[in-house]
Amino acid sequence: MSLRGTTFLESVLQTLKRAIELGGYPQEVYEILSRPQRIITVNIPVKMDNGKIQVFTGYRVQHNNALGPYKGGIRFHPEVTLEEDIALATVMTFKNALNGLPYGGGKGAVAVDPKKLSKRELEELSRGYARALAPFIGPETDIPAPDVGTDPQIMAWMVDEYSKIAGRNVPGVFTAKPVVLWGNPVREYSTGFGVAVWAREAAKKLWGGIEGKTVAIQGFGNVGYWGAYWLEKMGAKVVAVTDSKGGIYNPNGLKLADVKAVKDKTGTVMNYDSPGTRKITNDEVLELPVDILVPAALENVIHKGNANNIKAKLIVEGANGPTTADAEKVLHSKGVWILPDLAANAGGVVMSYLEWVENLQWYFWDEEETRNKLERILLDTFNRVMIRWSKLGMDKVTIRELHMWRPWIGYTMP
Ligand code: GLU
Repeated sequence: MSLRGTTFLESVLQTLKRAIELGGYPQEVYEILSRPQRIITVNIPVKMDNGKIQVFTGYRVQHNNALGPYKGGIRFHPEVTLEEDIALATVMTFKNALNGLPYGGGKGAVAVDPKKLSKRELEELSRGYARALAPFIGPETDIPAPDVGTDPQIMAWMVDEYSKIAGRNVPGVFTAKPVVLWGNPVREYSTGFGVAVWAREAAKKLWGGIEGKTVAIQGFGNVGYWGAYWLEKMGAKVVAVTDSKGGIYNPNGLKLADVKAVKDKTGTVMNYDSPGTRKITNDEVLELPVDILVPAALENVIHKGNANNIKAKLIVEGANGPTTADAEKVLHSKGVWILPDLAANAGGVVMSYLEWVENLQWYFWDEEETRNKLERILLDTFNRVMIRWSKLGMDKVTIRELHMWRPWIGYTMP
């Protein structure tokens, strides 16, 4: 138990327990799924620009591969822990299953602040991580991708390093690569696109549509920015955004393109200024009087200490694990709809799946065709989830607890 109540892993395991009860599955299922199949720890020496060697510790948690190769991102963040990585890998197993992907779940992490490394140091670290993991990953074994702190450039270095070791070109071992290196243009914005699609569909049910609904977004990285972009395109009004330094709020709406330009130029949205816009903190953004709240940064930000202050009726989890189990209970009892990570941010991994399929067959779709395929899979999951949710009682169970209703669990039995 942390000061904020349940830890991320505790929250994930609590929901797993409840999902097993709801699905009527035996206790053995919990025994299997409450711990990863394999944990790999690596220590990567990097020669820093000052000539000294620094050793970085990283992990790859391979949680479960009952449905197919392990799949999930790699996080570069100074505060990563093995426990957090296990929680993230576990969520990937459920996310991939829920969305009907032929994948199990995995997640990697390296304790580093990538912003503090030079480009050369970052390349050496990325290549070192790929080299250390090479015996354990592959297009049919484990397929990593980006997560917080990593991006297509890092995937390019990693796929190059892996391919050198394999002695052939193996694009399908990592996803979310640059477009020129067998990536797909949709992958850049797919997680944010998925967040917006889930928000739009839920808004149709709640209010008859998303047009004019106000949105506050915590996080302005890949998920937060592209989520804002697509939500705005779909007719919602983004009134607040933050990044790791803090953020801005304008009840009349923000001009996203301008905010993005300020962020790119100065490193933070905080420097954006316009009449009626005021500065807010990362705590305040969660409690604004808005219709839709999108936590799109890190886990455990909505906890029992602030759950009661949240005013949004719809929470769309762009981040993994932003709501603790305690907080979810409070919000659910108040009738707030929480679209959980494994549903709301699945656009990223679903698109990774499409990119991987392209790589395996060396055949590529254009952007529009790819986006249509992605949207179809997301809508299919949304509709299945809604049917199941109404059947079990929206006031009795949360969407997160439905995550094991798909009868995939049989495959994991000994
Ligand atoms: N890191 C993303 C997630 O948490 C994407 C994973 C992937 O594309 O494999 O879902």
